[in-house]
Amino acid sequence: MKIISHKSKRFFASILVLLFAITVITVNPISVTAATSSSAGTSKVTLAKGTKYATDLYIIESGKPGPVVLIVGGVHGNETAGYTAAAKVTQWKVDKGTLLVLPKANKLAVDKKVRYLSSMGDLNRDFPQSSKESADNTLSRAIWAAVKKYDVDWLMDMHEGYDYYKSTSNSSVGQSLIYYPYKTKSTASTIVNTLNKEISTYYKKFTLLQYPVKGSLARAAGQYLGVHSFIFETCDNPSLSIRVNYQLKAAKTLLHKLDMM
Ligand SMILES: [Zn+2]
Repeated sequence: MKIISHKSKRFFASILVLLFAITVITVNPISVTAATSSSAGTSKVTLAKGTKYATDLYIIESGKPGPVVLIVGGVHGNETAGYTAAAKVTQWKVDKGTLLVLPKANKLAVDKKVRYLSSMGDLNRDFPQSSKESADNTLSRAIWAAVKKYDVDWLMDMHEGYDYYKSTSNSSVGQSLIYYPYKTKSTASTIVNTLNKEISTYYKKFTLLQYPVKGSLARAAGQYLGVHSFIFETCDNPSLSIRVNYQLKAAKTLLHKLDMM
């Protein structure tokens, strides 16, 4: 009897050691990740820091070389799907390159749910309109400086229109992707085609357009910095969750095409 109890004590001791080892390995995955790729992870910097326009830029590093993609929401504070989707993108991870997210570009306008602040004017007309011009004000200058500082390769700016572009009664660009320059076209059409596959009603489909408006972030980045840029516009008629899903699907299609997801 004594021998058996001695043996079972040893057996339980080894089980305890094994359980301890499993706990250390499974409960502490962060230190394992940190050891293999020290620069991977998400950090945050503040643009226009110390001013009333201060807004957070999220930096999601894969720890591996690759494209730098900037996703922007809230340039217009009343375009809910844009900043709601961009906020969700701050939780994403990428397999290579860097994903930058500026979810509330015009935070004051987002907080007030207005297109822009009357004191500042339309942020999407405040970016350089010639190679010699600088951005118009504190906020646009801070955003423009970040696009240059992080050497952005791709820029997606999330917006919304009040009607479907394909319904001809007005000039709204809802459900469209407006790209610049031409080198962006192939990826832009992949995004539009991917989204249109799940839309059966013709006038609700996305349209591929060129030339974001002058003074817009996308136009300036494309024209003066050579960034592959586009404005992605949902139509604000369907429910918020449908619109946010369109925005997220467009962003995911871009990152898949760049092998970052
Ligand atoms: Zn807009």
